[in-house]
Amino acid sequence: MPELPDLTVYMESLEARIVGKRLERIRLLNPFLLRTAVPPIGSAEGKQVLKLQRVGKRIVLVLEGGLYLVLHLMIAGRLRWLEPKEKPPGRITLALLEFENGTLAFTEAGTKRRASLHLVDSLAGIDPGGVEIFSIDAAAFAARLRSENHTLKRALTDPRLFAGIGNAYSDEILHRAKLSPIAMTSRLSDEEVHRLFEATRATLAEWIDRLRKEAAAGFPEKVTAFREGMAVHGRFGKPCPVCGAPVQRIVFAENETNYCARCQTGGKLLADRALSRLLKKSWPKSLDELEQ
Ligand SMILES: [Zn+2]
Repeated sequence: MPELPDLTVYMESLEARIVGKRLERIRLLNPFLLRTAVPPIGSAEGKQVLKLQRVGKRIVLVLEGGLYLVLHLMIAGRLRWLEPKEKPPGRITLALLEFENGTLAFTEAGTKRRASLHLVDSLAGIDPGGVEIFSIDAAAFAARLRSENHTLKRALTDPRLFAGIGNAYSDEILHRAKLSPIAMTSRLSDEEVHRLFEATRATLAEWIDRLRKEAAAGFPEKVTAFREGMAVHGRFGKPCPVCGAPVQRIVFAENETNYCARCQTGGKLLADRALSRLLKKSWPKSLDELEQ
């Protein structure tokens, strides 16, 4: 699922192309993508894009006339920019947003149709409520983290608590903070919470910077949850870049969480009956459960 770093780079690439431009036509190739009926989708046509806004993991095109076109990529949704006359990719294209200077293709790989498009005249009800990590200080972070008692993995990826963090970057953040994904938020010391705050900001800032450099040449093409250079996410069995121990995993429902036992759990492998009880209670069950 595209998370804060990916979404930031998408937004910046889109801003450079479509802000101030007129959305001339919307072609829905898969009508199921659009989840709203009112206002009618045709009312967005001919409107100018005033600005872009991110709400959680959603990208919002703010249009003149008080309209908001909300794109939620979920797991396999992606964006592609097509120059005039360039052909959209075949079966995976769900919608084409045609501007005077090019077309934004909204694609989704795979067979599950989870990505969505909403046209609304108010953003009320769109925002799941998570705080933006770069808009809060350490005290606000601590308060938010401790507002509910959850595993760290669950707390970081809960869009009601924090905006823009999903399965991939939560693994990276926890590795950097040297904290166990199953540690409970209520049990953390002040020092650990502060370490997590610093690690969250540092990890996301570093990846935004990295992806920005990668996208400098054009529209971001290779948006993936598994990136070269990640410390633990998607690296089961490979050596931890800090200590060299093999990266471990917790597989639960549709999710795989990766961690380094030596760096994060005092060498303990997380696999026993107590763990499965905990996973049932305080763990994201599927990649998109919390997002919908
Ligand atoms: Zn390690």
